[in-house]
Amino acid sequence: MSKVSLKNLRIWNGVDETIDHGVDAVTFENGCLTFIGSSEDLSTRAADSVVKGPPVKDMAGLFMIPGLIDAHIHLCLDPHIKDPLQQDKFTREELLAGMTDRARAMLEAGITSARDLGGGQWLELEIRDSINRGELIGPRLICSGQPITSVKGHCHFWGGEAADGTEALEVLTRQVEHKVDLIKVMATGGNITPGSRPADAQFDEETLALVVNTAKSHGLRVAAHCHGTSGIRNAAAAGVTTIEHCSWVGAEGWGQAFDPLVAAQIASQGIWVSPTINSGWKRFADKGKFADLLKENYARMRKDGVKLIASTDAGIPNVLHHHLPLAIPVFANFAGLTATEALRAATSDCAEAIGLGEVVGQISEGYAADFVLYEGDPTSDLEVLAAPVEVYKQGETVLTV
Ligand SMILES: [Zn+2]
Repeated sequence: MSKVSLKNLRIWNGVDETIDHGVDAVTFENGCLTFIGSSEDLSTRAADSVVKGPPVKDMAGLFMIPGLIDAHIHLCLDPHIKDPLQQDKFTREELLAGMTDRARAMLEAGITSARDLGGGQWLELEIRDSINRGELIGPRLICSGQPITSVKGHCHFWGGEAADGTEALEVLTRQVEHKVDLIKVMATGGNITPGSRPADAQFDEETLALVVNTAKSHGLRVAAHCHGTSGIRNAAAAGVTTIEHCSWVGAEGWGQAFDPLVAAQIASQGIWVSPTINSGWKRFADKGKFADLLKENYARMRKDGVKLIASTDAGIPNVLHHHLPLAIPVFANFAGLTATEALRAATSDCAEAIGLGEVVGQISEGYAADFVLYEGDPTSDLEVLAAPVEVYKQGETVLTV
């Protein structure tokens, strides 16, 4: 792969509070960033080089940020289908065709990495491997395979039912055999499964701890689906890596059972919360009291030091896979984040939480050349994310308007 240099950029590196205006040029080679600095340094390096390099592209003041990361998607789910039980009407070929299209749409929208948190047939792992081999266009994927769930529990139709700890480990072993990147466990019931109740815990702390420790022995992290507070408590005590949703559902309903002791434990153990706030949450913004309650819960969590990452749960009804850029402003609004904090939650922080912290999420030397270019400055206006000018993954451009 050839060496490419870009100059006259405005660069947000994925970490810092502000843009460093002295840094406006990058070079990447073989998919990796090899130089970050000023256009001046770039020309000095070119002049010093014995080998004449390729021409430097003038980017005319475009903004560069690291590629976006969605910490929670389901590539196998068609978001246009309301009833999850109808998802299995497709043939394997139809499913793979849909997943291929969705993967491409995600990358074109600026999502260069994503964590897939569950399907029934490991097809997303096939897509992951095809993308890695360069046969398909899409984000780099981190996949969990079948989530471990209780008998008739949330998403049981994906085949990961377990009545006890022994059976949970059987499901886990099956995922390891299919070469998953992490383990997903349903610590509570969920919305999309008939008969399953979001408030109810599906496993006790002991069973979850068994899952976490066994996953660790395989070098795998654990993501726990948690709506109800009892399940959040069990997952936090068991030491999972990320808590998905974290909806604080109790007997009184959604968001009503915030527990400061549990939030403190989540924070002290360094567990990440992935709140799956998608762009559709705009509909709650008008519901005064409910919106206030949700916002208050995020404010309390953040005050306690809980770290949040960007995620959408793409694939559930009406949540499109390529809509993370539209979700980030809504996420920032509900979670009370500045634009830079929200962007960090969708780049460097997200990368760290999903185990890619040394690879992506930053415009730094040695990191993958995964980045997105915009006309405007996303660090001052998150709406800019909706219209990328160019997307690069591993130094290859995938979108040019
Ligand atoms: Zn999900």
